[in-house]
Amino acid sequence: MNKGFKLVKKGELEYLTVPSFEETGLVRHCFTTRLGGVSTGEAASLNLSYKRNDSPENVRENFRIICEAIGVDHNKIVFSDQTHKKGIYIATTDDLGKGLHRESDISDADGLVTQQKDVPLCTFYADCVPLFFLDPVKKITSAVHSGWKSTLLEIGKEAVSVMKDMGSNPDDILAAIGPSIGPCHFEVRGDVAEQFTDKFGMEILDRTVGDKSFINLWKTNVNILIASGIRERNITLAEECTYCNRDRFYSYRGDDHKTGSLCGIIQLV
Ligand SMILES: [Zn+2]
Repeated sequence: MNKGFKLVKKGELEYLTVPSFEETGLVRHCFTTRLGGVSTGEAASLNLSYKRNDSPENVRENFRIICEAIGVDHNKIVFSDQTHKKGIYIATTDDLGKGLHRESDISDADGLVTQQKDVPLCTFYADCVPLFFLDPVKKITSAVHSGWKSTLLEIGKEAVSVMKDMGSNPDDILAAIGPSIGPCHFEVRGDVAEQFTDKFGMEILDRTVGDKSFINLWKTNVNILIASGIRERNITLAEECTYCNRDRFYSYRGDDHKTGSLCGIIQLV
């Protein structure tokens, strides 16, 4: 397994990329930080969601800033519709602009996948686990929001399954797990911990402190990906906790629910 995303700084703007994805030359992509945008207050400064305490103008300007930096046309951005389930939507050029610049009819899609060039997929985060996939052979890419509920539903496996239906061999797929709440801070109630350990085994329970249980969502998702046929050496884990690094990332729990939204963008070129 590879550890660490690459940090890119352009003036005030900071974002992360996946080295193994970059080496293919097949995608433009990023995972954002909260730095380098125009939003203020709790959404400061690179908030990318209309659903936060921020103006739509700021969100659009932030998209313009990040898209320009990574060489993606913001007019084409396609939003996921995250409902904490395991739906995967196959996006095409018919979907360009949905969510950011026009009404979207994409529903119940915590994950997006595409086999077409110039279709920038966009998923949102503030503690939940980002999963990114790239099949450099069949040229298929995917961005997935794997919150704890979607992790329990094994949405990562679902994404790999959709990619297999589109022609991918899991042996070829590169995968990346982005910054999100780490085992240091992902505390859950006993009944939720039990759902995790029943399904994924005791190894994903990081520790218990009194009646508090801490679950390792990173290890859970790594195990889900490996069980789906992805090679361990093709997985990159950012290993950065959003709660621990609140100066750099939005953290829904760390900021007491008053925060902005990060996003992952990936587009085949
Ligand atoms: Zn932490």
